Amino acid sequence: MAEDSGALPLKENFSEWYNEILWRAEIMDVRYPVKGLYVWYPHGFSLRRSTYNILRELLDRDHEETLFPLLIPENEFMKEAEHIKGFEEEVYWVTHGGTTKLDIKLALRPTSETAIYPMYALWLRSHADLPIKLYQIVNTFRYETKHTRPLIRLREITSFKEAHTVHATWDDAKNQVEDAIALYREFYDRICVPIIFSKRPEWDKFPGADYTMAADAIMPDGKTLQVGTVHHLGDNFSKTFDLKYEDEKGEQKLAFQTCYGISERCIAALLSVHGDDKGLVLPPEIAPLQIIIVPIIMKKNAEEILNAAKLLETEIKSAGMRVKTDSRDLRPGAKYYHWEMRGVPLRIEIGPRDIQNGVIMAVNRFGQKTSIKREEAISGIKEQLESFKKDMKFKASSKAKEQIRIVDSLKGAKEAAETGVAVLQWCGSKKCADEIEQKLDVSVLGSEIRSEYIEEKEDTCIICGKPSKPALVARSY
Ligand code: ZN
Repeated sequence: MAEDSGALPLKENFSEWYNEILWRAEIMDVRYPVKGLYVWYPHGFSLRRSTYNILRELLDRDHEETLFPLLIPENEFMKEAEHIKGFEEEVYWVTHGGTTKLDIKLALRPTSETAIYPMYALWLRSHADLPIKLYQIVNTFRYETKHTRPLIRLREITSFKEAHTVHATWDDAKNQVEDAIALYREFYDRICVPIIFSKRPEWDKFPGADYTMAADAIMPDGKTLQVGTVHHLGDNFSKTFDLKYEDEKGEQKLAFQTCYGISERCIAALLSVHGDDKGLVLPPEIAPLQIIIVPIIMKKNAEEILNAAKLLETEIKSAGMRVKTDSRDLRPGAKYYHWEMRGVPLRIEIGPRDIQNGVIMAVNRFGQKTSIKREEAISGIKEQLESFKKDMKFKASSKAKEQIRIVDSLKGAKEAAETGVAVLQWCGSKKCADEIEQKLDVSVLGSEIRSEYIEEKEDTCIICGKPSKPALVARSY
């Protein structure tokens, strides 16, 4: 597959680094002959699977997984006026079956509200059916006109996890929004990616929502990437789709809804936040391969060393870890390079002297070496993986703290937005946001910030001087 030729661009040239790492580490192949559609390499797909397994595990606590059709009939799709306004420029349509023109055009789902809610209307009868909390992990299609980019801006989103919930009251739906935020925070904590939640401005919310909360990750170039959204849909869609239930008194009531999604952008953030000049750095929990054993083979005792490596591999495997021995006829240095590029958290070296001394040498992806007693190999390796994860988390959160700056002037905000996120006081008005965006060439991402790094405090707007709250301002993808 991908060949190890030439050097990876330095991460400080982030855009080039990103494009190169995708094929060098065998995540995505960009050579598929349709613009905005990319192919998962098996290594990338394995990472995708383990990452989405975490998401599934968290959702399965109190959601159920489902699967709805890809095609949505035009008449259902067009029902919700706000919603369609937000998507009509991005929809792919199926107009023909073979050579026969279809009576009703079919949309390739850009998102699934209009596929799911007509069915919810058939399913929902009484208050006893509530809440409904379903999710699916599917592909969706959007005719992106902006510059497409693997995992970030796609015409086929291959891995859209969308959850759709139904509740009796507006407040129940609001509580669900909070639960979803907590769930996403836990998910991103598990993959060691710091995120900041904020409430999107009115003009930037999901089409058809009462309000939208969104998670942003800060990329190495200081731009933010929206990596998750949670929408309170109020009763907007239930009015459209006649989603009603019978309450305790036997009265018909409109239901309230939420929906929330995460796409493969979570993988983009994961790769970008942690990777370095040598390649990927992956958290042990989701790394397709957790441990690579490299036997240091000398001619005279090659067999003894290979056997020792194989025996260790078997032991590690039976302890439930993902491990491989690289016994290819290559220099050890070439093997190190190969596995570092792919982000394997821990390398174990076994050479003749290690066997003699009854030890193995563990080297983590940050290059830290530890000698482990052979008889304590399993517990020692587990410890190494655990402390490596802690180091990853610490590095990522230190970097995020560095990239967030609280500022009290436009000049300060401009500087901060060159390397990361500026937090400034904003009154919430469109007029002031426009002025901030024009003067600084940034986006006002949102207010009501949820982040352990940012304190929510009242002050006066940086533009108009009216009462205000902190807002996130950054260049964004
Ligand atoms: Zn203002």
